[in-house]
Amino acid sequence: MGRIHLKDVRKDFGEMTVIPPLNLEIDDGEFVVFVGPSGCGKSTLLRLIAGLENTTSGAIEIDGKDATDLPPGKRGLAMVFQSYALYPHLSVAQNIAFPMRMAGLDKAEQARRIDNAARVLNLTDYLDRKPGQLSGGQRQRVAIGRAIVREPSAFLFDEPLSNLDAALRVGMRLEISELHKRLDTTMIYVTHDQVEAMTMADKIVVLNKGRIEQVGSPLELYDNPRNLFVAKFIGSPM
Ligand code: ADP
Ligand code: MG
Repeated sequence: MGRIHLKDVRKDFGEMTVIPPLNLEIDDGEFVVFVGPSGCGKSTLLRLIAGLENTTSGAIEIDGKDATDLPPGKRGLAMVFQSYALYPHLSVAQNIAFPMRMAGLDKAEQARRIDNAARVLNLTDYLDRKPGQLSGGQRQRVAIGRAIVREPSAFLFDEPLSNLDAALRVGMRLEISELHKRLDTTMIYVTHDQVEAMTMADKIVVLNKGRIEQVGSPLELYDNPRNLFVAKFIGSPM
């Protein structure tokens, strides 16, 4: 599970077309990175997939079913927000439990999933702390934990590491890659950082003004950039 097809998906904001009709197939278990300069439409595309924005036209299929008009909570996806989206007055366990409380899961199931997420994320010893008593990296893990307990078919990340310092960012990149291997679930990861894209992706989608310039593995893009934009952005010799 975690196959996502975008079919002629288009998004206008008023008079402005931010995403001209776009086609993209994401396979089960892939780590896909949307990369491109600021303002090119990465977040908009991710929010369309999440259901946080409605498409102007076109269709979105998730695991073979039409999801174009489904609300975010019914798509089986989980968006990971930056760590500052945590509730400061709630403990780590309560923060992680929050989406399950909303969904009305019973206490035993909540406890099982919190345990599991805490184990995967090395947060077992921190469940009673408040976000203010955690490091930046730990806070980011809590934000990821909140997504894991929903057991989504795909995780959506929008520049999750952009408010961490450089050293921490490198560590968190590795952690997210490890998490992807362990969970074997589709991940879509938005960044404007070429290094992040090249080191984390199975498949990179290079965006420019809402259009896909090229899709391919890091090596394919590096060795065979389709045009100067991709070459410059990926940093390959041309
Ligand atoms: P990125 O994430 O790549 O930086 P965005 O998807 O945030 O780019 O934005 C793409 C374009 O869409 C930008 O020109 C931005 O100003 C515009 N945009 C994004 N959200 C809205 C909105 N809710 N209303 C109007 N314009 C928007
Ligand atoms: Mg963005």
